[in-house]
Amino acid sequence: MKKSENQINLFKPRFRNKEVLKYINETLVSGWTGIGNKTDILELEWSKYTKLKNSLFLNSATAGLHLSMEVLKNYYNWNNDTEIITTPISFVSTSHAIIYANLKPVFCDIDNSGTLDPKKIEKLINKKTKGVIFVGLGGSLGNLKKIKKICKANKLKLILDGAHMSGARYNNKKHVGFESDIAIFSFQAVKNLPSADAGVMNFKDYKLYELAKKYSWCGIDKNTFDREKKIKTKINIWEYDVPYLGYKYNGNSVIAQISRVSLKYLDGDNKYRRKISLLYEKYLNKSEKIFIIPHSKGSSRHLFSIIVNNRENIIKKLKENNINPGVHYKSILEFTYYKKKKFKKSTNMNIAEKFSKSILSLPLHTFLKSNEVKKICNVINKYA
Ligand SMILES: *Cc1c(COP(=O)(O)O)cnc(C)c1O
Repeated sequence: MKKSENQINLFKPRFRNKEVLKYINETLVSGWTGIGNKTDILELEWSKYTKLKNSLFLNSATAGLHLSMEVLKNYYNWNNDTEIITTPISFVSTSHAIIYANLKPVFCDIDNSGTLDPKKIEKLINKKTKGVIFVGLGGSLGNLKKIKKICKANKLKLILDGAHMSGARYNNKKHVGFESDIAIFSFQAVKNLPSADAGVMNFKDYKLYELAKKYSWCGIDKNTFDREKKIKTKINIWEYDVPYLGYKYNGNSVIAQISRVSLKYLDGDNKYRRKISLLYEKYLNKSEKIFIIPHSKGSSRHLFSIIVNNRENIIKKLKENNINPGVHYKSILEFTYYKKKKFKKSTNMNIAEKFSKSILSLPLHTFLKSNEVKKICNVINKYA
């Protein structure tokens, strides 16, 4: 057997190629590959699936995170000293977004779920604090409900970085996102709902949605698809205004078609991810050397992560066995840019620092077989 066939990868997106090609072909034949057309349909379907209102399809979740900061700042007249509390255990997009909008990130420690610790959030709140970005690490809801209460009591906006949370639900019922003022999901290639690169935002407040929609299309107050539709009704279509310095962040109809097919299979795929996670829990040794990050019921199970003290050695042993693990995440505060800037943070960052040094993500995707999970666990049990 060739080596590549033996390889167990961390992620492997499953595309329903035939169906996707049929969907894409439909778009090409229609002659409209840009914004509108299929992006409008994707937005409706995402809202129908999640029951979340005001869906806005974008070219990435990073764009969505940035827009969330930009529209809140604009709408509520936040000044540049405004502080937004977030976690250092995330992909850099989360805190980059705050800085893009000229606001101040404040890094808060996490709890054992790998998500923001509500008690430590409370310690960081002051007059300048206006929002919290919660990251559902690996699909976990952590203490999101408690954090929602803290935000309400302190009049803070709650933003959900749900990049890992497509299909994540409270107790397998209500989809996540309702608790937040703005929720952002990623349809990037290796996330639970894979496309090429895309993301979607949901807004509690229609006014913020309207504003973000303009910001996502260069600040233009009408989109070309709507203008095109109006040609048919003979309304003046060439006129538009640009009230804001917006961005080119909109999604397109080709990627919307890939996303629509993936959305159809999301629940089934997540169910498989939960099954694999249970197998890991079954086969991994119950010892103090291996700490399994707990997930809430209804987690989308984007990641299966453990804490091990000898991470580097375990990575080496896994690689020797053709298994590719990952790290989600090294603390954002350890990257050069962030180190130099000396951002505000919790006085005690013990848990984030521990995660940064010892967290390990094990392969998790819908092609993974139970005997492969067993093989991975055997290596870890032997060397942890
Ligand atoms: C992937 C990811 C993002 C960015 O998503 P893109 O769609 O790739 O821009 C943001 N936050 C987290 C936690 C992520 O994992």
